Amino acid sequence: YRATVLLLDQTGGADRQYLLSFRDLTEAHRLERMRSDFVANASHELRTPLASLSGFIETLRGPARNDEAARDNFLEIMQKQAERMARLIDDLLSLSRIEMKAHIAVKDQVDLTTVLNHVADSMRPLAAGLDVVIEQDIDPGPIKVLGDRDELTQVFQNLVENACKYGQSGKRIIIDLKQNSEGVRATVQDFGPGIPDEHIPRLTERFYRVNVETSRAQKGTGLGLAIVKHILTRHRARLIVRSRVGEGSSFTVVFGPQRT
Ligand code: ADP
Repeated sequence: YRATVLLLDQTGGADRQYLLSFRDLTEAHRLERMRSDFVANASHELRTPLASLSGFIETLRGPARNDEAARDNFLEIMQKQAERMARLIDDLLSLSRIEMKAHIAVKDQVDLTTVLNHVADSMRPLAAGLDVVIEQDIDPGPIKVLGDRDELTQVFQNLVENACKYGQSGKRIIIDLKQNSEGVRATVQDFGPGIPDEHIPRLTERFYRVNVETSRAQKGTGLGLAIVKHILTRHRARLIVRSRVGEGSSFTVVFGPQRT
């Protein structure tokens, strides 16, 4: 705690008055700590592909100067590393844009049937490339929630992308949207390897990945679900994650009853 003492009455005399105020610094310290951890993690994540790029440049200018086969191979790896850095930067910028808007209330009526149908259509090429079929079980709309259309699109794009990436090829995923008197629920379900229980509470932490190798291979940055969490907080919506190892996972976004 930090205690601040203010002298209220400076006229002297016997009855001086003091105002004593305490402020809880643990929360402030925690936030500060989170911020500096984040900067350290982000720098590390960007440094890794950069170090690899520098290494390859050095090799190409030196030992591999005249080795054509090695050059093609190295250039391909370098391109992938550069793309990885670009993805990281895009995700970091996304996160910072969303954070800047965190205190501005969402105000548009967004029809989720349109958003989800649009996301399903736009993700089909990626799904097909991973040999995953997207199925839709979407109530006929409109199903409106108060929100920001672009941000909600990003939420469902991230969830569907994860379901496709981690849901295993040759399988299907289901996008489900339902409305009842308690509110609106949108679920993205996959039948992939599932997520062990101990990881679930940490999934929305920045840079948290259950399996770093798989995630890297799937072009993951570890920021997707952190972005989802930030957007949903601004929308006062909840994310419910259910998963069973060997059976699959479902990510449900729950919006409370909507005022119309
Ligand atoms: P990434 O960019 O690595 O995909 P996310 O923040 O979107 O990062 O997800 C964090 C981690 O959660 C992923 O790296 C992956 O290990 C795990 N994960 C997310 N969605 C699923 C899913 N549907 N099935 C299994 N694991 C998942």
